Amino acid sequence: MTDTLRLAVLEGDGIGPEVVPVAVDVATRALAAQGLTVETTALPFGAAAVESDGAPVPASTLDALEKFDLWVVGPHDSASYPAEVRYPPPGAVLRKQFGLYANLRPARAVSGVTATAPDIDVLVVRENSEGLYADRNMTIGSGEFMPTPDVALAVGVVTRAASERIAVEAFEAARRRRGHVTVVHKANVLRLTTGLFRDECLAVAERYPDVRVDEQHVDAMAALLVRRPADFDVIVTENLFGDILSDLAAELSGSLGLAPSINASDTRAMAQAVHGAAPDIAGRGIADPVAMIGSGAMLLRWHAARSGDSRVSAAADAIDGAVAHVLGEGIATADLGGGASTSEFGAAVAAQVG
Ligand code: ATP
Ligand code: MG
Repeated sequence: MTDTLRLAVLEGDGIGPEVVPVAVDVATRALAAQGLTVETTALPFGAAAVESDGAPVPASTLDALEKFDLWVVGPHDSASYPAEVRYPPPGAVLRKQFGLYANLRPARAVSGVTATAPDIDVLVVRENSEGLYADRNMTIGSGEFMPTPDVALAVGVVTRAASERIAVEAFEAARRRRGHVTVVHKANVLRLTTGLFRDECLAVAERYPDVRVDEQHVDAMAALLVRRPADFDVIVTENLFGDILSDLAAELSGSLGLAPSINASDTRAMAQAVHGAAPDIAGRGIADPVAMIGSGAMLLRWHAARSGDSRVSAAADAIDGAVAHVLGEGIATADLGGGASTSEFGAAVAAQVG
């Protein structure tokens, strides 16, 4: 077991350079408290990389990322890049290039923050490589096209293999949580694609007799998440449905600014908050770093599950505990109605973990 964790750090655009360093600092202190050191390597990404290297995800960044299994990645704001060149979204490039097929998005209310659903505690396990999301599509490249100027088409892809691996991810997560998986689809209308997804998830369920499984249509799921949020534990679904349901769950738990996430393959994981670059507040030092800090904790927990290093999971627990403690004390950034700056909030959390 190594005493040094190597992190690739890609700050990204907008509020990225404000929240990413806070998350890295908090993680570094939490790990130091467990006797571990962190070695960070900053890599060009986003608008700064367009300036320095002529592309938002330079080849040198992709090459370097190969050597890291843990990445902390900020948001990107493709709209801010020079209009004359069209780039695919940088986050999608990373997910596709490295096969980060699982997007894990937990949503849980914390005390100190007003939540629409104070009893929500769910994990949305979102298939990250298929479905209707053309730019994420690993199987057929671009999934959208216009056969005539007046008709636009999108092709959705669902494969048995990708459905199986995301289902395994969900059932494994359920074993670590409250032992309940809800498979979300729309198989009454999208019979072949989301039907295949559902069938494969239910086939995987047979390998997990200790986990309770049920299923919902995505529209009913949206309503039930508002009406009876406490009834749900792990929600596994395809790409587009997962994107929408995870924003809904995040808002029900308090705010998008709190929502952490990781994107993972079997061998590497990238911490990246659910929120975007927030250009409307960038550069003012008021962004909420909670989502990015929490994404860092998820990254450490992912690493601990594979390495078996309990010091790393202890650091992750310390981070989540510190954030809850600081929010519980009424310290918060402007999005939650507080008066703390990004760095003040970060310093309060850092003081708790280290
Ligand atoms: P993307 O397309 O990249 O997902 P988006 O259009 O969904 O971006 P965000 O960048 O997530 O938008 O911002 C949505 C709103 O939430 C904005 O008003 C933004 O200021 C706010 N917001 C997002 N993240 C944060 C944060 N960490 N702290 C405070 N406010 C935030
Ligand atoms: Mg968004």
